[in-house]
Amino acid sequence: MSYDYDLYVIGAGSGGVRAGRMSASYGAKVAIAESTYLGGTCVNVGCVPKKLFVYGSHFAEDFEDAKAYGWSVAIDPFDWPTLRDNKTMEIQRLNGIYEDLLNGAGVAIHDGRAHLLDAHTVTVNGQTYTADKILIATGSWPSVPVFPGRDHVITSNEAFHLPTFPKRVVVVGGGYIAVEFAGIFAGLGADTELIYRGPLFLRAFDSGIRQFVADELEHKRVNLRFETTVERIDLDGEERVLTLNDGSQLHADLVMYATGRTPNTANLGLEDASVALTASGAVHVDDDYRTSQDNIYAIGDVIDRLQLTPVAIAEGMCIANNLFTDRPKRNLDYDNVATAVFCQPNIGTVGLTENQARDAFGDVDVFESSFKPMKHTMTGRAEHTFMKLIVKPADDRVVGIHMVGPDAGEIIQGLAVAMTAGATKSQFDATVGIHPTAAEEFVTMREIRQ
Ligand code: FAD
Ligand code: NDP
Repeated sequence: MSYDYDLYVIGAGSGGVRAGRMSASYGAKVAIAESTYLGGTCVNVGCVPKKLFVYGSHFAEDFEDAKAYGWSVAIDPFDWPTLRDNKTMEIQRLNGIYEDLLNGAGVAIHDGRAHLLDAHTVTVNGQTYTADKILIATGSWPSVPVFPGRDHVITSNEAFHLPTFPKRVVVVGGGYIAVEFAGIFAGLGADTELIYRGPLFLRAFDSGIRQFVADELEHKRVNLRFETTVERIDLDGEERVLTLNDGSQLHADLVMYATGRTPNTANLGLEDASVALTASGAVHVDDDYRTSQDNIYAIGDVIDRLQLTPVAIAEGMCIANNLFTDRPKRNLDYDNVATAVFCQPNIGTVGLTENQARDAFGDVDVFESSFKPMKHTMTGRAEHTFMKLIVKPADDRVVGIHMVGPDAGEIIQGLAVAMTAGATKSQFDATVGIHPTAAEEFVTMREIRQ
């Protein structure tokens, strides 16, 4: 049977665009449907605008620190519309680049929301298209719990377009988005509270990192409230009045919930195409990203393995390679995916946490270092850097590398290559450092933590 397309991609985000472009470059006839914005979450309301805001929010400290180095800077008050609108212009530029990339690869772009009619048929804006294979790359959406006053909160989606900058902000959640945005709001000058339901936030991270980041955020004037939940939120004029689990009240101009993201599977017609979901509502796939329907595949946030852009992109590369080339099959190794949290200072991490390593191998050697970055020996700022190496004594392999400090993501990216290549602690020790850097500490740690 002949179809309109070899591959129909639903969702032009990180994963869908890469899978579509690469498949077309291998000779497939490809179309992609996008309901909202080319580039998806990462480009429009995720990684990119978030990182621009992180840069913007660090200048307050930079101006203060400059004084110790002999620079006196007279500054105007922070102007939110300038940051917000310059960011939006940059995103629009990137949207254009994504459009050019898809056009250049010969991928047909269909603007609109796609819906599956059956396993080979998609409808977009009343037009119907058939395809041999279909790829679901619809991403995820912020999930906010149901409670009285839920309508008075925003999510990260809205934080990128606020009409005015708030004076008092409460961020609810204890994951990536909550700690990153608490740092952004505080850095830009808002009185910022972070509310987390458990004893210590960043639950999936190494315990040393979690405590260290908590201390650093408090230095940055983020007020942390752990073991705290929001019972209800009422409006008093424009003000949000939060009632907490201990009965106390908090007053804020803005409340942002960052309590996880749900895979985008609603109203997609998945049931009409016999595509099954997991118990948690993600699209169920096998090791080759094949859904319960033979010709339909899914990648990225919608399968909820690791909700990270480079993961969605790598999954897209696997799909294109495996479906449209004769090259050896590719699969993604989800172990040792490096990641960064752009709180201030940043977290960079790859491999096992100390607890995971102990569970896996029994005894492990842990090397730790905490120090004041050289820059702050002159500024007096109370910011510290933390580094941690976890080593499996049986074969000397480094199995976990963790850091909190400026540019931790940049530093850990390079070390992740070494760890993926199976580097041992002896090889770290044999590596000559670059002086004076923070990163050299990773090759000079000699004392096992007792
Ligand atoms: P998406 O990029 O979300 O793309 C899905 C696309 O599908 C969207 O454009 C959507 O409009 C479209 N779509 C949905 N349904 C339909 C339909 N029925 N028809 C047509 N189109 C449809 N990751 C990192 O690695 N680093 C970071 O620093 C980082 N920062 C982040 C910050 C924030 C605030 C957020 C929210 C996320 C961040 N992420 C980060 C995560 C990253 O953005 C996602 O993991 C990544 O975008 C997932 O890619 P995807 O292709 O699966 O989905
Ligand atoms: P996360 O899953 O990272 O964190 C969700 C947080 O919300 C957790 O602390 C969780 O608590 C808490 N939570 C969940 N449900 C509730 C509830 N009902 N009430 C109160 N608290 C609740 O999600 P995010 O929204 O922060 O980010 C989504 C994903 O996007 C991330 O997991 C990450 O994969 C990706 N991302 C990546 C970034 C990066 O690479 N730098 C940046 C931003 C996002 P608990 O821990 O107790 O379950």
